[in-house]
Amino acid sequence: MTKYEVIIIGGGPAGLTAGLYASRAGLKSLLIERGIFGGQIVNAALVENYPGFPQGISGAELGSLMHQQAVNYGLEVITAELTEFTAGQLYNVSTTKGNFEAATIIIAAGSEHRKLGVNGEERLSGHGVSYCATCDGFLFRDLEVAVVGGGDTAITDALELTRHVKKVYVIHRRDQLRAGKTLEERAFAQPKLEFIWDTVVEEVLGEKMISGLKLHNVKTGQHSTLEVHGVFVAVGLMPNSQSFFNIVDLDDAGYIITDEMMATSAPGIFAVGDIRRNSVRQVSTAVGDGATAAMSAFKYLQERG
Ligand SMILES: Cc1cc2nc3c(=O)[nH]c(=O)nc-3n(C[C@H](O)[C@H](O)[C@H](O)COP(=O)(O)OP(=O)(O)OC[C@H]3O[C@@H](n4cnc5c(N)ncnc54)[C@H](O)[C@@H]3O)c2cc1C
Repeated sequence: MTKYEVIIIGGGPAGLTAGLYASRAGLKSLLIERGIFGGQIVNAALVENYPGFPQGISGAELGSLMHQQAVNYGLEVITAELTEFTAGQLYNVSTTKGNFEAATIIIAAGSEHRKLGVNGEERLSGHGVSYCATCDGFLFRDLEVAVVGGGDTAITDALELTRHVKKVYVIHRRDQLRAGKTLEERAFAQPKLEFIWDTVVEEVLGEKMISGLKLHNVKTGQHSTLEVHGVFVAVGLMPNSQSFFNIVDLDDAGYIITDEMMATSAPGIFAVGDIRRNSVRQVSTAVGDGATAAMSAFKYLQERG
């Protein structure tokens, strides 16, 4: 089994920054990523709030540059999925491409969009079902779509979609929004938005592409069908912390609890970026966390010789 000083799980901005700092500090470091190096930000058409790029930069390019930079400074990376994580004298990391051991672990596995969990959702994902209005909105030019959810993300998505589509139905299971006041006012003033209250989606309909949604009004009990060409699901995020729940302390929502040096409740395990409790879930904060965690890992290893 190959041994490392640091293993980083997740290759988004937080993990890649941790890897850059750990490698530059001379630590033998491995980063494990199951998808695209760069993480979630590769889905952003334009990132305008990451310092250093006065005209903005595409998320895909930013992610790719972070990956190249970390590798240039000696970070080893593999494309594999973490399958099991156990604590022994060292931490054991089992993946789809083999098993590894390390004295310190940096968890940078981010979070995922919560699914509706209804029939048709998975089958039609990418065929009208989307979790990213910024990425896919333009595909529905002059068509009618729905957004499911009533929080800040759902309303931001709905407003963003009005730039492209003919009409947006906002389907919310309650009779009022959970979004901030300003967003709510903008949403109510936007003529392309129509709100469907007290309603949940029961099924996503369609063969090869989505043709509509089967709805259920939770107050009246009535069932109905809404014809739409797309549905954007914005019902929250889920931290990818399942593999660590019996090893580090999590909050009620499953986010990993850390101190300000990114240390978790387990010795030598650090957590960074969107998976961490109280993260504001931005690239700039994820990279800050990554740098801090790598320095903490370095100090931890030094203190233990
Ligand atoms: C559409 C969109 C637009 C955004 N726009 C902006 C913006 O303009 N500005 C901004 O600051 N932020 C933006 N964000 C938020 C930003 O992308 C995140 O805050 C940031 O990517 C968090 O970085 P992270 O490294 O913590 O997590 P992530 O980027 O989520 O990376 C985590 C990585 O871990 C991997 N992983 C998870 N589980 C495993 C496993 N078991 N095994 C192996 N690998 C695993 C995942 O594949 C993923 O690549 C946007 C997000 C989205 C979705």
